[in-house]
Amino acid sequence: MQFKEIIGHKDIKEHLVRTVQENRVSHAQLFLGPEGSGSLALAYAYAQFLNCENRQLTDSCGECPSCRKYSKLIHPDLHMSYPFIAKHKEDTATDYADSWRKSFLSNPYMGLEYWRNQLDADNKQVNINIAEAHGIIKKLSLKSFEAEYKVLIMWLPEYLDTQGNALLKLIEEPPEKTLFILVAENQDKILNTIISRTQLVKIKKLDHMEVAQHLKSVYHLSDQESAEIAFIADGNLQEAMNQILRKQIIILA
Ligand SMILES: [Zn+2]
Repeated sequence: MQFKEIIGHKDIKEHLVRTVQENRVSHAQLFLGPEGSGSLALAYAYAQFLNCENRQLTDSCGECPSCRKYSKLIHPDLHMSYPFIAKHKEDTATDYADSWRKSFLSNPYMGLEYWRNQLDADNKQVNINIAEAHGIIKKLSLKSFEAEYKVLIMWLPEYLDTQGNALLKLIEEPPEKTLFILVAENQDKILNTIISRTQLVKIKKLDHMEVAQHLKSVYHLSDQESAEIAFIADGNLQEAMNQILRKQIIILA
């Protein structure tokens, strides 16, 4: 994913680009933004930019071998973690990697409910289990395959529960050239011990105009329909999509 594919967040994009250009990428960062704001997309775009072999001034090139793999979420040095339903205690997020890629690539603004639907979760509990925490420690202790940086992007560390304590040492003293990005929605539900070890990147909700503009161009809605939905969604693009589906005014391409 490239920065230019993500709606809004001009300041955050500039900040992230600068950290790479000035060689001061903090090894553990907490991207904190409400559902549907694009914080997960920003994390992926940042990682892609960091590993791009032909970085442009404000974005990754989108064409080098690294960008091509990143854009499909298949780069061997990109590790992805997220809540899932563990059917067995040894299950890890990797068991759901195909669904994850499909979900994110079709809806980079997805919220937890959307992801749960992809998992056929019914009422089952999703979480990030201890096997996943141990798997992360193991994966990040290996040498990178081809990129300069190994990257781990963990979505919704709120679901780590106390398993997160297993990761503290890794977050505090990660192996060299490792970037750890946690993408969270609710600061109160994250272990304090994790918060104190990460650099906070605060991501605001999108503004109504940005959402309305996006709905107009992607879903071909009228000015009035876009504005109404953007108002109800209040900066949450996932909610805007839910509204569109509910109203069944989606025009299939
Ligand atoms: Zn590139």
